[in-house]
Amino acid sequence: MSQEPKLLFEETLTCPVCKKNTLHARDYLYEVPIAGMLILSNWVCENCGYRFRDVKPYETNKPKLIKYKVENKDDLKTIVYRSPFGKIIIPELELEIEPASASQGYITTVEGILEIVLDQIESYCDDNCMNMINNAMDGKISFTLMIEDESGLSFIKSDKAKIEELVIKYSH
Ligand SMILES: [Zn+2]
Repeated sequence: MSQEPKLLFEETLTCPVCKKNTLHARDYLYEVPIAGMLILSNWVCENCGYRFRDVKPYETNKPKLIKYKVENKDDLKTIVYRSPFGKIIIPELELEIEPASASQGYITTVEGILEIVLDQIESYCDDNCMNMINNAMDGKISFTLMIEDESGLSFIKSDKAKIEELVIKYSH
């Protein structure tokens, strides 16, 4: 007995390879005997043919904190998906980027995240702060990329990424 997968999520995102807004992302929920509920991601760029496929247990979609230690240039190429609810934190650079209310999710690389961060904070970043980010982008310093996500949809595509249950703190 097979069940039809249910469409869970559908968005058009910016492709991490060709940078065009032609990456069609679709996530399906389906039930498999023994394995239970799974999410199947099938993302395809119509422009350059880039594909992202992934299967993960449905239970992972709860509030979480992802931590990824970036130690070299290869780590900068790791694929990252930041959902519209993902907050980016880089403690070593004292950076926190809140999710914008109307923001879309996007798939990019760790380097792409740094470019987005730079773009957002450029106006109030001093020389020291610019140097730190530029060094991070060149792989000269190691840092921790953290994504805090209440929706649990964000991910960092690496075995090195650590996932913790998110405890939501309220600050005033
Ligand atoms: Zn593409």
